[in-house]
Amino acid sequence: MLKVEGLTRRYGDITVVDGLSFHVDEGEFVALLGPSGCGKSTSLKMIAGLETPDAGRIELEGKDITHLTPGQRKLAMVFQSYALFPHLKVIDNILFGLQARKVAKDEQKRRLDSVVELVGLQDHLQKKPGQLSGGQCQRVALARAVVAEAKLCLMDEPLSNLDAKLRNEMRSEIRSLQQRLGMSVIYVTHDQVEAMSMADRIVLMNGGKIEQIDVPEGLYNKPQTVFTAQFIGSPPMNIMHSTNERLGVRPEHIEIAEQGRPARVVSCDYHGADTVVLADIGEPEGKSEIIKIRYPGHAMFAAQQSISVHWRAEHEHHFPVNQ
Ligand code: ADP
Ligand code: MG
Repeated sequence: MLKVEGLTRRYGDITVVDGLSFHVDEGEFVALLGPSGCGKSTSLKMIAGLETPDAGRIELEGKDITHLTPGQRKLAMVFQSYALFPHLKVIDNILFGLQARKVAKDEQKRRLDSVVELVGLQDHLQKKPGQLSGGQCQRVALARAVVAEAKLCLMDEPLSNLDAKLRNEMRSEIRSLQQRLGMSVIYVTHDQVEAMSMADRIVLMNGGKIEQIDVPEGLYNKPQTVFTAQFIGSPPMNIMHSTNERLGVRPEHIEIAEQGRPARVVSCDYHGADTVVLADIGEPEGKSEIIKIRYPGHAMFAAQQSISVHWRAEHEHHFPVNQ
């Protein structure tokens, strides 16, 4: 459906997007994930036609759209800031694009009817955005994208203004809406949990470049770089240093066992379902090496208590020293 090749954008001397290449299949939900400032929004704006690339090519259904205007691309967009018209009623906000394009009235009604129940706005159509909650505003923005029946919907951190509970609800709402309608989506987020729980595939970016493209389980189970290993998963993967490699083990794969490598407890952080135990596996008189262990339930270890830690070889990740 969409193919991006070598997409590049510079601001002055700084290359903020550097040779981005990936594709989106029909009906696929692809997350563009990475830390703040890594070039996600700039990439999305180039796909939308709101920024001009310095190099690279964008193809939609086999057609080169790199130099088309945003209107000619016919993509739908949903942003963090909803971008609703405050003086228009919800119904007119949803239909704004269709009215502007002079789509026939009965066609507008057909599309409106099919979407309002999906997004749960049937009782709010006559209200103004100021009378709605943040979650409802985001639903209006989603409904507007859906009625556009665009080939591809671009979303830039659409949930980051919402509180944690609503964000969770909207995540599954967007995902199920996308699946029911068979929408193709590029979803920008800095939140790895969001990307992991929603996306079919994740394009992980770092410093304007692609770090790894994979399905969520691939990023979690087979990270190709230390960056990926530590960006996905919480707490991040432990990286232990030796002279000839860097050894990664996830906190949930380390057990506190009867036998194993000696360690000393530094502190315990109780989270409810589990406790994150910080332990020092360094030599008692040498340099400390702190690891995090995810311990099920409520761990009650005293600081400085001696423990043994153990992990299975199959849970080890090996990275080169110089990576
Ligand atoms: P993200 O969405 O991943 O947080 P952005 O794509 O917004 O990152 O920005 C990437 C980098 O480009 C940032 O360092 C940002 O400061 C810089 N940047 C974005 N827009 C401009 C601009 N118009 N002029 C100069 N630098 C910019
Ligand atoms: Mg951004």
